[in-house]
Amino acid sequence: MLGLMQDQPLLISNLIDFAERHHADVEIVSRRVEGDIHRYTYKDAAGRARQVANALDAMGLQFSDRVATLAWNGYRHFELYYGVSGSGRVLHTINPRLHPDLIAWIANHAEDQVLCFDMSFLPLVQAVHSKCSTIRHYVALCDADKMPPDTGIPGLISYEAWIGRQANTYQWPVFDENSASSMCYTSGTTGNPKAALYSHRSTTLHAYAAALPDVMSLSARDAVLPVVPMFHVNAWGIPYSAPLTGTKLVFPGPAMDGKSIYELLEAEKVTYAAGVPTVWQMLLGHMKPAGLKFSTLKRTVIGGSACPPAMIAAFNDDYGVEVLHAWGMTEMSPLGTLCTLKNKHQDLPEADQMKIRLKQGRSIFGVDMKIVDPDGNDLPWDGKTFGDLHVKGPWVVRAYFKGEGGDPLINGWFPTGDVATIDPDGYMQITDRSKDVIKSGGEWISSIDVENIAVAHPAVAMAACIGVAHPKWDERPIIAVVKKPGAELSREELLKFYEGKTAKWQIPDDVVFVDAIPIGATGKMLKTRLREQLKDYKLP
Ligand code: ADP
Repeated sequence: MLGLMQDQPLLISNLIDFAERHHADVEIVSRRVEGDIHRYTYKDAAGRARQVANALDAMGLQFSDRVATLAWNGYRHFELYYGVSGSGRVLHTINPRLHPDLIAWIANHAEDQVLCFDMSFLPLVQAVHSKCSTIRHYVALCDADKMPPDTGIPGLISYEAWIGRQANTYQWPVFDENSASSMCYTSGTTGNPKAALYSHRSTTLHAYAAALPDVMSLSARDAVLPVVPMFHVNAWGIPYSAPLTGTKLVFPGPAMDGKSIYELLEAEKVTYAAGVPTVWQMLLGHMKPAGLKFSTLKRTVIGGSACPPAMIAAFNDDYGVEVLHAWGMTEMSPLGTLCTLKNKHQDLPEADQMKIRLKQGRSIFGVDMKIVDPDGNDLPWDGKTFGDLHVKGPWVVRAYFKGEGGDPLINGWFPTGDVATIDPDGYMQITDRSKDVIKSGGEWISSIDVENIAVAHPAVAMAACIGVAHPKWDERPIIAVVKKPGAELSREELLKFYEGKTAKWQIPDDVVFVDAIPIGATGKMLKTRLREQLKDYKLP
């Protein structure tokens, strides 16, 4: 017997319709590439998203055709999120920090038909457009009068001219909720990138889940600033969860430096922000010397790479901001776990609470996880045993676009490539990425643990731990360190700092001082490149 409830497909267009109807006057504020601040409402955004849909119809784009973007977090990008997916086309957000050749490769692989780009990326598009064989239309995300002459890009049109001639009325089509809505390529640290192809259903379910109290806890009383880019994994789903909850949206545009982010957080009374640790490092680096405080920020989600304890402590103790540690990946839309305490933890001493907060957190309903040994056997949830982390759920990939890489699943589970422990309360902690873990004399050393201790030292700005070949132990850890400007620190002093904080054999064998640690396209430390840079390094 079937239930007798209405059967309505979960479609992305429903989100913007809902926001327009129920949160019409809620603001969306953006710092533009031009440098000024743009503000309008969900009602305005919805009308312009419909203009985008009409403009795509006028171009003759078919259902499931791909529309690519090279764009910062901003209102026009937001309109494309809805105009493109809502009308049944697939939004392909491209990460502009990738190598230009890779961008062209990705655009060809996705068979993009249209490319919409912010003017910051004009030189990039000029460099790659001749290699992009499927793109028929180029749209510059700017006013008509800001279009530079003679760009050399065939048929380039300004976004405002493009949608300006279209009506803001449009009937969103209704179709199968499993239809593709958007896509994102993994950054491809090994081999060519592969694309996760999200659906309307997966995106809507993820948007519901992301808004839950123990996840991002978004509400109509919040103002959220996603520092996480809309060009990588849909800014952790915030552009979908915010309309669903009526949350004010604040977009930082291209200005990702500490000063600009701080000014926007304050001016727009932001209560909630989300980003990778490297961004928050810059923000705190700007605030501390100037003695600045937050007046409205209450919570921040930090994920994408391990959040060092020193950062959680700084936000909490110095600024009264709660840090929520999150874990996920492109293949998971991206949210998998988020760390919030349970009722029974409320009265624990601060230090014990901190131990929990450092973990990557508990599964969100919709993501099932397990840890397994190399033979695929389930490992216990005792908080000590570590194994390969596998996940499954309605917003986890089942295959990559065009079947690249074959079947990624093992018995229906997606292997994440992360090594983790899970404790009896279900808190998962990433030990390492499987390719970063250091194997020393048959024991495993977590590079994250080694880094966390180093960055707790007041003179250390950034630290990356890698394994170096060792004749007796196979591999031994060393730590590459960037000092804070003007700070003094010797090798001996840092090694001494490790004493008592970890087992002796987990203390790195050496400290290498470097000017910078290479950062990849998604703001994470690029250990592959660091290993290359240190390839002539010899252990003392
Ligand atoms: P990439 O940037 O490498 O293309 P993703 O953006 O999908 O890929 O990143 C996913 C990976 O990032 C995870 O598999 C994990 O290794 C790492 N990661 C994400 N969040 C965290 C976290 N909170 N702590 C540690 N590692 C994390």
